[in-house]
Amino acid sequence: MRKPIIVGNWKMNKTNAQTKEFIDAVDSKLHEHADFGIATPYTALHTATSNAKNLLVAAQNVHFEPNGAYTGEVSVEMLQELNVQWVILGHSERRQYFNETDADINKKAKVLLEQGITPIVCVGETLEEFEANQTEDVVRRQVKESLADLDPQKAQTLVVAYEPVWAIGTGKSATQEIAQNTCAIVRDELKNLFGTEVSEAIRIQYGGSVKGNNIAEYMAGKDIDGALVGGASLQPESFLELVEALNK
Ligand code: PEP
Repeated sequence: MRKPIIVGNWKMNKTNAQTKEFIDAVDSKLHEHADFGIATPYTALHTATSNAKNLLVAAQNVHFEPNGAYTGEVSVEMLQELNVQWVILGHSERRQYFNETDADINKKAKVLLEQGITPIVCVGETLEEFEANQTEDVVRRQVKESLADLDPQKAQTLVVAYEPVWAIGTGKSATQEIAQNTCAIVRDELKNLFGTEVSEAIRIQYGGSVKGNNIAEYMAGKDIDGALVGGASLQPESFLELVEALNK
């Protein structure tokens, strides 16, 4: 049984004071039916991990080198020191604005797994690719290249987030059928990489305009184990709607 996993991606939002306020409002209202987490900016990670008792904490990126002349970057060891549990890799905004490639994501995923932090690897097609019926090719390629040569034993803990780029922050969510079908494609590619047992253990999230009023419908898909949520994760009220929707 795969435990549902809901992660809020805060992107470049919230100061330390706002992070603490959010945690104070949400942390005691979580339940055991799912893992709930927030991906804060680097600057708020310490506040998050030191105040949260139940919420898990993710970073939004990491560098694959252990240290060195990489101005502006942060290493896995630095995140470990802050007790960060997950790291989002390859979010479409990082692919689009910061030229992050599947090869970069692959190096980061390897280092994270070696050091015991769980990567949440994002894949998904652009609107152009969707309209050209290239979703399957794009998603299979992204999964294959970003997760190449990982230790299958360690890969079991991975999380993959399928996020159609055209549904992120646009209010245009994918239909449940599209989300489920593409998550099934992701799982099939995971099977090609790691075999059936490992592919069945890996949790797959859908992301793209998920809210309290549509999360249950997505989660009914047999290959959808949770959601990566942007906008609806920013306010305690809308985050708690997601929490309540899974309280059964
Ligand atoms: C995201 O940022 O990964 C995302 C899915 O955003 P939103 O929920 O706002 O579409």
